[in-house]
Amino acid sequence: MRGYRIREEMNGTAEPPGKTWFWELEAGVIAADRCIQCGTCVAVCPSNSIGVGEDTLLPELVKMCTGCSLCWDFCPRGGLRYEAAWPPSTPMADETPVNFVERPDPADPYWKITGGPPGDGLGAVLESYAARTGARPEFAQDGGVVSALLLAALASGEIDGALVTKPSSDPDEPWKGVSHLATTAKEIIDAAGSYYNQTMALAELDLTKYELPTNPRIAVVGTPCEIQGIRAMQSRRWPTGVHRVDAVVLTIALLCTKSFDYQGLMLRLLRDDRDIDIERVSKVDVIHGRMIVEYRDGEVAVDEPIKNFHGAALKGCDECADFLGRGADLSVGSVGSIDGWSSVLVRTERGRMAVDNARGRLDLRDLDNPEALVKLDAFDKRIAFKSLQRKFDPDAPLFIDYEEHLSNYGDTDRAPVVIDR
Ligand SMILES: Cc1cc2nc3c(=O)[nH]c(=O)nc-3n(C[C@H](O)[C@H](O)[C@H](O)COP(=O)(O)OP(=O)(O)OC[C@H]3O[C@@H](n4cnc5c(N)ncnc54)[C@H](O)[C@@H]3O)c2cc1C
Ligand code: SF4
Ligand code: SF4
Repeated sequence: MRGYRIREEMNGTAEPPGKTWFWELEAGVIAADRCIQCGTCVAVCPSNSIGVGEDTLLPELVKMCTGCSLCWDFCPRGGLRYEAAWPPSTPMADETPVNFVERPDPADPYWKITGGPPGDGLGAVLESYAARTGARPEFAQDGGVVSALLLAALASGEIDGALVTKPSSDPDEPWKGVSHLATTAKEIIDAAGSYYNQTMALAELDLTKYELPTNPRIAVVGTPCEIQGIRAMQSRRWPTGVHRVDAVVLTIALLCTKSFDYQGLMLRLLRDDRDIDIERVSKVDVIHGRMIVEYRDGEVAVDEPIKNFHGAALKGCDECADFLGRGADLSVGSVGSIDGWSSVLVRTERGRMAVDNARGRLDLRDLDNPEALVKLDAFDKRIAFKSLQRKFDPDAPLFIDYEEHLSNYGDTDRAPVVIDR
């Protein structure tokens, strides 16, 4: 491990007591195959000592570690108790109950994974919608809502750019998502759609290579773990080196139960094992418990149970209990609304402003099936809990019952509806 090599080079230098070093994060998270490639450790390091491995896409030490401990403290698989940054989902005594969400099963005790406040129902929700945009980008994943929100925010000057995921330009990496700050409408549209790989997104908060105003305002689209990193860094204002966490004024979480290793999923399991022509792929989707891959001509190239692809899933995702992206300003996903629409949970005033700003671009109506969101969240948390149990008892089975999973939020949840436009 590179971190340990650097440590060895420090031979003879006594480590001051009470410090936590990068190599401890390296041993406990990265080498233990638990890293979910969010990039928080890179962004939080005040001495810019952590970079991204070119081949591994994992964090690695690029210069001296000072033992400040922040990479460990803010890592969602290390010291971060991300539940602590979730806004309360039930009102405090002196609050109006706008956020109150009735618990799905009142007999179920408050659930918490490692301490922190309970997260019940859908978390803090001010408004919720099924939504789609009229001018849907060609490659939008569901209702094209995330792109529409970003386009509206950019057009009104609310943001100077948006951290999105665009396709890699490297011909050896077809269908690999890479993190990028989009500063034009075209770049936002070109980045529509879902890439089922993590990108070390928060490392891209080093904005020095982009042309931006001195005090830029940016939106971040990310998986819930990436939003956890931002929320934590924003609520504990340590210096974050070159990374502009302070510039983030809007966060949009994509609902997420699992992400994948790019090479394992796209190259090994799809291209090599199933003979998929990656160049012809127009959409990859994980939906209704299945992996669906479509070609540009509409042919469905793959339609298989998602369990067939578990070999390429990130192991650290099993520990994640934040399917709903509870810390974000807005959470957007496909579950809970019919095909071609996105489910939108508005969690904060900033999120509400972003939706209001985009109203002219969006069809908005009630969620088709909010229960489906609650059920999948509960399922996700059960996996996280079992996964944590295994830390104490390595022989405990990681029970994932996909039949039950499907019966909880399967196709019946997405009955067609007629829209009065
Ligand atoms: C790894 C992953 C897992 C997901 N799992 C679920 C799930 O289990 N259930 C569910 O309901 N929804 C899930 N989603 C969300 C869903 O696929 C759509 O992204 C969401 O419904 C928004 O669709 P849209 O048409 O409104 O967005 P679009 O208008 O298509 O915009 C999508 C935005 O997401 C950005 N993006 C794409 N890939 C990534 C990435 N890897 N990391 C960060 N940003 C990215 C794009 O650049 C774009 O800005 C997942 C998404 C991802 C990336
Ligand atoms: S999970 Fe995120 S913060 Fe932790 S080591 Fe991996 S990239 Fe860094
Ligand atoms: S499942 Fe959790 S840890 Fe994995 S990518 Fe999604 S949000 Fe991140």
